[in-house]
Amino acid sequence: MNMPLRDQTLESLTFDNRFVQELPPDPQPKNYRRQVSGACYSRVLPTTVSSPKLVTHSREAAGLLNLSEESCESSLFTEIFAGNNLLSGMDPFAMCYGGHQFGNWAGQLGDGRAINLGDVINSQQERWTLQLKGAGPTPYSRQADGLAVLRSSIREFLCSEAMYHLGIPTTRALSVITTGELVERDMFYDGHPKDEPGAVVCRVAPSFLRFGNYEILASRGETDLLKKLVDYTIRTDFPHLGEPSVTCYTAWFKEICQTTAAMIIHWMRVGFVHGVMNTDNMSVLGLTIDYGPYGWLEGYDAQWTPNTTDARGRRYCYSNQPQIGQWNLLQLANAIYPLVKQVEPFQEALAYYNTLFLKGWNDMMAAKLGLKTFSAETDDTLIGELVEILQLVETDMTIFFRQLASITTSSKVQSGNNIPAAISEAHYKPEEITESYRHRMNSWLQSYIKRLEHDKLPHDKLPDELRRQKMNSINPKYVLRNYLAQLAIDKAEEGDNSMVIELLDLLRNPYEEQPERDHFAAKRPEWARNRAGCSMLSCSS
Ligand code: AMP
Ligand code: MG
Repeated sequence: MNMPLRDQTLESLTFDNRFVQELPPDPQPKNYRRQVSGACYSRVLPTTVSSPKLVTHSREAAGLLNLSEESCESSLFTEIFAGNNLLSGMDPFAMCYGGHQFGNWAGQLGDGRAINLGDVINSQQERWTLQLKGAGPTPYSRQADGLAVLRSSIREFLCSEAMYHLGIPTTRALSVITTGELVERDMFYDGHPKDEPGAVVCRVAPSFLRFGNYEILASRGETDLLKKLVDYTIRTDFPHLGEPSVTCYTAWFKEICQTTAAMIIHWMRVGFVHGVMNTDNMSVLGLTIDYGPYGWLEGYDAQWTPNTTDARGRRYCYSNQPQIGQWNLLQLANAIYPLVKQVEPFQEALAYYNTLFLKGWNDMMAAKLGLKTFSAETDDTLIGELVEILQLVETDMTIFFRQLASITTSSKVQSGNNIPAAISEAHYKPEEITESYRHRMNSWLQSYIKRLEHDKLPHDKLPDELRRQKMNSINPKYVLRNYLAQLAIDKAEEGDNSMVIELLDLLRNPYEEQPERDHFAAKRPEWARNRAGCSMLSCSS
């Protein structure tokens, strides 16, 4: 990998704020909560804070800006990314967007606590928007305060970077900074508000445009502005699609279907559950965006949702994510329909999403099992049966797939015997294992081994070893287990940032063995089973 140049100081960054230059602003300069129509954004300044302190920064995200390590450690960096100061060339604004929340149209939402500072053009001529989250109220803050707490900021910071290192499309995080101020939050909306340390994260992405940016304009019948925004998006972020036109719009939509499917297949691969897949949390670039009450599957459970607000309906549970992705795309299709005025191209693209998803899922699952290619004849049953078995007793998803790589074509599995030790390491409650479960799992392993034999190259001396390496390059050993993030937060709230820094470093190499850090790959401890932040999360952040 080419290391990016990191020779820029903060003052030497080049800004090109095309969004504000090309699209109409809200004419009202005052910062108060309101409906903003006929505009794509409102100019607004971050709120200054009393005593900003850097928790940590991501050197890889700084690399995107070519920002030197020295600059990241400077007090100016902390001041800028806490919202206390602006660099020349920055032109801060909050975006106007709407969204469907939990299946219902929610009207105007917008950047209620996010402020875009400007777009940096780096040495590769790439565009990277810098955005503060938690830097104070904007016209879109509705009844809320525009702030963020340390707990949710650390979760966003660590997960953004962890996802990147897992190879999953995501917005990035440059820094997390405590503000020195307290922010009141009622974590479970149960009448127990608490003061928590405030924090600001600086996020980085080529664009923060969401499905909701287009939906709000369509909902207001602002078709000319909708066209302007779509044309802007295509010219800026999808230049390979050519000049905007009706055919270009449908090609654009099709590409969003494709990148959304690809993103969700990645989530399914690593057991990531976003938790709030509202259309305002869906990036048009197919990036994972807005890390709120997300979580990682520990025990494999298709119905699991980390979000307490979603506990009843389970709309956003693990196994619903693909289907919700498509529902959200349908809302985007409805929004841009006035520019195309034909239904078929959208229907085709949405059907294409299904095809892509199914193929992507099969290929991904085959790769997780270490098969050379997916073959429907044998693998539909193999995968279907495994997914059922994994839910019969609580089985750690990450550990299971990692351990499966140690099963070889010479492994001896008898259906009447104990389950191989490698596999039972993934079980949370060995006492739940019944005779019939043992038979079923062992029979599955026997079919699996047979299937592997079928894949073996005749002259390949090390097929088992090669397969193990391939599996380990897509089945991570380390993920941001919910309880690990919470332990890092507990320490950081006491002023000790060491575990945030250690997890950031651990998750740089999620597929590598890191023997001295094996404990971070362990099953969730029992104390974390029902602890807030470890298994239950709310949108309060
Ligand atoms: P979310 O569910 O976190 O994606 O947020 C939905 C909407 O609420 C977005 O418009 C956010 O900007 C806004 N929002 C969430 N938290 C806050 C907050 N503390 N202050 C202001 N706006 C917020
Ligand atoms: Mg959001």
